Amino acid sequence: MLIVMKPGAAAQEADAVINAIQKIGLRPHPMPGATRTAIGITGNQGPIDGRRFENLPGVAEVIRVTKPYKLITLDLRPEKTVVRVGNATIGGNELAIIAGPCAIENRDQAFAVAKAVHQSGARFFRGGVWKPRTSPYAFQGLGEKGWQIMTEIRKAFGLKIVTEALEEHHVDLIERHGDVIQIGARNMQNFSLLRRAGRSRQPVLLKRGMAATLEEWLLAAEYIMAEGNYNVILCERGVRTFTQHTRNTLDLASVPAIRRISHLPVIVDPSHGTGSAYMVTPLARAGVAVGADGLMVEVHNHPEVALSDGAQALTPSEYAQLIREVRAIRDVTTPIVNQGPIETKVA
Ligand code: PEP
Ligand code: MN
Repeated sequence: MLIVMKPGAAAQEADAVINAIQKIGLRPHPMPGATRTAIGITGNQGPIDGRRFENLPGVAEVIRVTKPYKLITLDLRPEKTVVRVGNATIGGNELAIIAGPCAIENRDQAFAVAKAVHQSGARFFRGGVWKPRTSPYAFQGLGEKGWQIMTEIRKAFGLKIVTEALEEHHVDLIERHGDVIQIGARNMQNFSLLRRAGRSRQPVLLKRGMAATLEEWLLAAEYIMAEGNYNVILCERGVRTFTQHTRNTLDLASVPAIRRISHLPVIVDPSHGTGSAYMVTPLARAGVAVGADGLMVEVHNHPEVALSDGAQALTPSEYAQLIREVRAIRDVTTPIVNQGPIETKVA
């Protein structure tokens, strides 16, 4: 159920609705918007009788939610969510760039890549400290030592740190020393981890599961939001298909498909989405053209000796060129997206 307040409703009126929801043991999720506040309700097992809210002062409408999601929808928040990370944003006017190595390997590597990321004007530095590897014998990440390096990079460059939490206690560390909690494809349906991230105040970057439908992915976002964390960024990173020319099939149609349903920002990861460095830039261009709010790109100063995902890593100079290209595309597409379709005048 969703309660929409009148455009001019007073804050006390919204508070009274929130109290009424809490009184019956349910959880209110107030979403203030540009023109009105909507209040989502979670915690009910079956349908709620909406008539009890209908006549409360300031209430414009009580809507029964028939879709499987409640909080991610445009019904709840018609404007796009802009996730703020300090002075950087994802989902706003700026194209969000999250770049860095697959894994933090050592201080020299991490600093060399961070320097290139900083120089490109990107605001976010990514890097795995704990790596979810297919083989238990593959490099698992530096752990504690990696965190130390991340902390230094954050301080030295002022970049916002994005790193993947594999376990709930990793979220504690990211809360203390990082900026954005990444939930990886392999953990998209790790519900206790989603709930833990949902109890955090830090933004959560939620990757699409390797074989997740749009609905499953959005319901994973719903898990995070249901716990009270509304700063969720969706990341399309490709899904497994029958193709063999790419590591995954990057489903760029998910960007407009999500836009139609949800207010959450969506970014594209052409690195895991293709698995090959030569495909990363073309697919990054396409991701921006299709309307993504940002990109996640893997960069390595020596891809040939990378301890993970070397084949898809761009060198710093390839990365710098990618950034120039995608910014040019963004400049062209932004006015089109903001103004709607271009009218062709027939003489
Ligand atoms: C990553 O971004 O480092 C990663 C492991 O990606 P994914 O979860 O999309 O496979
Ligand atoms: Mn990787």
